[in-house]
Amino acid sequence: MIPSDPKQVTQICFDRIRIPDQHRLEVARKNGAYKFLPTVLNEFTAEQIVDEMKKSGLRGRGGAGFPTGLKWSFVPRNTGKPTYLLCNADEGEPGTFKDRDIMRFDPHLLIEGMIMAGFALGVRDAYIYIRGEFLHEANVMNEAIAEAYAANLLGDNILGSGYSMHLTVHRGAGAYICGEETALIESLEGKPGRPRFKPPFPAVEGFYRCPTVVNNVETLATVPAILEHGGDWHAAIGVQNSAGCKIFSVSGHVNKPGNYEVPMGTSLKTLIEDYCGGLQHGSVPKVVIPGGSSTPWLTAEHYDIPLTYDDMIKAGSMLGSGAIIVMDETTDVVAVSRRLAHFYAHESCGQCTPCREGTGWLERLMLRVEAGEAGEQDLQVLSDAAEHMAGRTICALADGAAAPILSMLKHFPDEVRARLVEKAA
Ligand code: SF4
Repeated sequence: MIPSDPKQVTQICFDRIRIPDQHRLEVARKNGAYKFLPTVLNEFTAEQIVDEMKKSGLRGRGGAGFPTGLKWSFVPRNTGKPTYLLCNADEGEPGTFKDRDIMRFDPHLLIEGMIMAGFALGVRDAYIYIRGEFLHEANVMNEAIAEAYAANLLGDNILGSGYSMHLTVHRGAGAYICGEETALIESLEGKPGRPRFKPPFPAVEGFYRCPTVVNNVETLATVPAILEHGGDWHAAIGVQNSAGCKIFSVSGHVNKPGNYEVPMGTSLKTLIEDYCGGLQHGSVPKVVIPGGSSTPWLTAEHYDIPLTYDDMIKAGSMLGSGAIIVMDETTDVVAVSRRLAHFYAHESCGQCTPCREGTGWLERLMLRVEAGEAGEQDLQVLSDAAEHMAGRTICALADGAAAPILSMLKHFPDEVRARLVEKAA
């Protein structure tokens, strides 16, 4: 279903997404796709592009929020090795479903963004790593790429500019951890998807140990608008330190769940009430997970919080991928935590003991709490285990697994204690 447009606001990635057949090159070009590409390839230098990206204030839209222009500036030049551009289209964070809409409704926007990014970074071979379950989106992307090759928008000597770039779609096998950039690289190299120790960071030593930039779909799809209108234009949208627009995937107990692209700084309450038609039960949410299931929970006291990187950190959470999961007063927070504990136990890659063993402990303890078989001492073990996992592992999955447990214990201690075996007797 094409995303609805309940309000007229500035939109970047979703600007043309509701146009019928926008995924076809002929239609996309009529609506402005690739219009500015010859200017970029013929009149911009790589340094100018990186400068515009820095000026734009764009921060990675995949979850970490690292400044995109800065990331590009870390790539060493003239190393004698190829530089690679990898688009992270794994989108495995529970609650996130925005990148798939860009790929299935406006794939040429992503391709155009990748050509511009590739030109700035001196890339000859680029890849889209797409999660295995996104079969339809992979097919749409492949058809769009074939159209782009036929029109000399990809391949050798693009539009006679002298720049050549080849683009390949690679389907993953459905592992959550392959959304972590170094696990993605391992998987793309044909190995099990397990995160690497950092440093070295991929910008210096990534795909096949060569300089590599990994950017999210939404991030790359924002590049054409930034280069056409200028970094200052983008920086003026949103708020300081959280520039531009962001697509929020809103799910859960709202009347109109879906993807909504709004300027950064829009309040959570505005997004839920004006765009999503409000809550199904109650007037304020019981829990909001603001950035995908691995981010700490917000509660009713944060209902009016501006959707920015800084405000989320101040509130003790993270903007993450912008996947907002809304839970109303009917929610059983113990059941939610148990379900998420199962997810992370299943998805741990097993390299680090605190994560491999800890995620299993959390799940088993949560099963006991949910079943009314746990005692007060189990809660202490639950809390200790979650606290000792976070920050002690190769990647952030362990932190993500601990977040729902610690949030539940912090915000709803009475509700949890009411489930203990002593209380149930
Ligand atoms: Fe693997 Fe978990 Fe360690 Fe990440 S934290 S590398 S998922 S074991």
